[in-house]
Amino acid sequence: MVWSEDLGTLASMIDAELVYLGDLISHEVSIESELGKAFKSIMEHGNLVSPELVSSLLIKRFFNDSSNKILAHFPRTYSHAEYLSQLLISNNINLDAVLAIDLDRQSLNKKLLNQFHCSNDYSHPNIETKEVNPICTVCNKPLFNTYDLSNPALINTIESYYEKADGNLSAAKLISRVSRANFIHFSTPEDVKRKLYEL
Ligand SMILES: [Zn+2]
Repeated sequence: MVWSEDLGTLASMIDAELVYLGDLISHEVSIESELGKAFKSIMEHGNLVSPELVSSLLIKRFFNDSSNKILAHFPRTYSHAEYLSQLLISNNINLDAVLAIDLDRQSLNKKLLNQFHCSNDYSHPNIETKEVNPICTVCNKPLFNTYDLSNPALINTIESYYEKADGNLSAAKLISRVSRANFIHFSTPEDVKRKLYEL
């Protein structure tokens, strides 16, 4: 979420394609492939997409060549990570690195509170700032907080990141262990690039 911009910067710095799982799913649905139809039907029934289906999609659209790619926003849970691990092993796929955001909760909350978007037009640039009442650089209208830290869904997302048993962090660690890929904490794009080039 917050680090999309940093991930984009990192991708261009290391000449990699940044791939979001959500975009892969949308593409598959739009071309009405068998896989796409399966995703569509699950989502139409309001169900969560299964890790099996996601794994099939990744084999078909992400691990299908050896070009430089970054898979963003996956795996999010430990069970996703378990499926992905199996997939990597059974298909002999090598990863260079697994990235995880390196922030304590307090700093994360602060970072979220510093994210703003334009109250007037969503296409105007989102900004990270410590200013109290920031204004849009394009239209001079006030900016709104992008994240409401009292929103239960957001609280849930944050909790799940740190959740020891089934959170993003434990998922990332599992993947790095299984694939013997390096585990890198995401701080800044420059820092991650340096660490990647040291491998
Ligand atoms: Zn604006």
